[in-house]
Amino acid sequence: MEQVGMFINGEWVQALGGDRTEVVNPANEQVVAAVPRSEAKDARRAVEAACQARRPWAGLPAPERAAYILRAVDYLRADAERLARVVVAEQGKPLREARGELEATIFLLSYAAEWARRIEGDILPAEGAEETILIERVPHGVVLALTPWNYPSVVPARKIGLALITGNTVVLKPHELTPLSALELGRAFDRAGLPAGVLNVVTGVGEEVGAELVRNPAIQYITMTGSVDAGQQIAAAAAGNVTPLSLELGGKAPFIVLDDADLDLAVRHAVSSRFTNCGQVCTCNERTYVQTGVFHEFSERYLAAVRALRVGDPLDPNTDMGPKVSRDELDKVDRMVERAKAQGARVLLGGQPLRGDGYQRGFWYSPTILADVRQDMEIMHSEVFGPVSPLLRFSEFDEAVALANDSQYGLSAYLFTNDFRRVMRAIRDVDFGEIYVNRSGPEAFHAFHSGYRRSGIGGDDGRHGLEQYLRKKTVYLSYGR
Ligand code: NAD
Repeated sequence: MEQVGMFINGEWVQALGGDRTEVVNPANEQVVAAVPRSEAKDARRAVEAACQARRPWAGLPAPERAAYILRAVDYLRADAERLARVVVAEQGKPLREARGELEATIFLLSYAAEWARRIEGDILPAEGAEETILIERVPHGVVLALTPWNYPSVVPARKIGLALITGNTVVLKPHELTPLSALELGRAFDRAGLPAGVLNVVTGVGEEVGAELVRNPAIQYITMTGSVDAGQQIAAAAAGNVTPLSLELGGKAPFIVLDDADLDLAVRHAVSSRFTNCGQVCTCNERTYVQTGVFHEFSERYLAAVRALRVGDPLDPNTDMGPKVSRDELDKVDRMVERAKAQGARVLLGGQPLRGDGYQRGFWYSPTILADVRQDMEIMHSEVFGPVSPLLRFSEFDEAVALANDSQYGLSAYLFTNDFRRVMRAIRDVDFGEIYVNRSGPEAFHAFHSGYRRSGIGGDDGRHGLEQYLRKKTVYLSYGR
């Protein structure tokens, strides 16, 4: 088993207390590596390093900062196949998807570097003679990035690229289940010669070292992607220092199919937006609403397409779906489906963990479709984050809009129709941060990814995402006598 260090102040180090946590391959339960389990003193060490590095880094011209990022990109590109396999080993998604995650990682960092010559401020006419007013865009200082396990490479890259190009230094704390891909990002930046302390990757448990980092008053901005529960705890702790933050939290995306929809298209996207990454995507189709006229035909075709999914070894090129990320996550999905069944849901497909040949070890759940669900059931309101798809019939368009909006979440929503008026009304009335019409994701990284209600605060990507890593400084300048 590999003993991996973490990256603090330009060095590969162990936790000061000497503790470690193991990283387990979810497809076979083998221990892949052990990483440091940090505590408060490690958190302080990382934040101090990031503070030391802050002014020199912010003082570099942005094109020089971009050059470091692009050098790291070169290392990632040269090593992409190995890194995709690291994603598979710690997270369990099929290799095909992991390769896509590495491509997106490389793309996002390259995209961040493109901002080098585009960070601009404002110049305003002043009230007095021989005076001017400047509004500068300046970095926050030290940014804390807390990232989840479902995209262990691309979510850290999404955050550190924009944080670094805007002149911040970063402490990255990846999820304890999947720290290896984030450490690989640290390694690429290390090889690129990034000055010590500019990027620090600290491993350990969220409630332990994560909470310590959140409470540290030297952290000037927090960007977190993860669950609503953790987001609430982090927001409450950040309030202690009034630290600004961005939270990208869970989702419960409605997937609406109207009578006139192209059913082939709708079925294809319903499958990919539910079963990609074993259903562990914040934008996943979590509840499918189908209009009465096409309900029967859609259900038949959807069932056939989902039945055809091949579940198994993520390294097999023919595999469509891998395991859940951990035993806890598997059990959570299983309990949710059991409660739905007890409330009257009828299992059309799956409905239980996978057992038998090929599934003896690892955290396998069968692709599942549930019928006879009602809107008041838990399965229509709580995020499943697994390969489980409840189907519900509706008759009127307005009813579908009301069902979609009946959620504590507000991240992504899907609509399949060719009716221009209904598309426009849905864009107006569906209260979600991201609406996909006749297509599914992935989202474009130069657009904006943000959720309403409990799905979050702030957002990632594009110009609006970049803005989050900058604060404004207003300068009143007099050059008169
Ligand atoms: P999680 O909330 O358990 O962990 C996210 C990160 O926060 C981890 O690094 C964790 O260690 C840290 N953390 C947890 N509790 C903390 C605390 N009290 N203080 C400081 N840090 C703490 O999330 P997860 O289980 O890894 O991810 C799954 C969730 O993420 C799902 O709900 C999913 O919808 C959501 N997600 C959202 C988006 C989005 O863009 N909106 C993208 C991916 C995943």
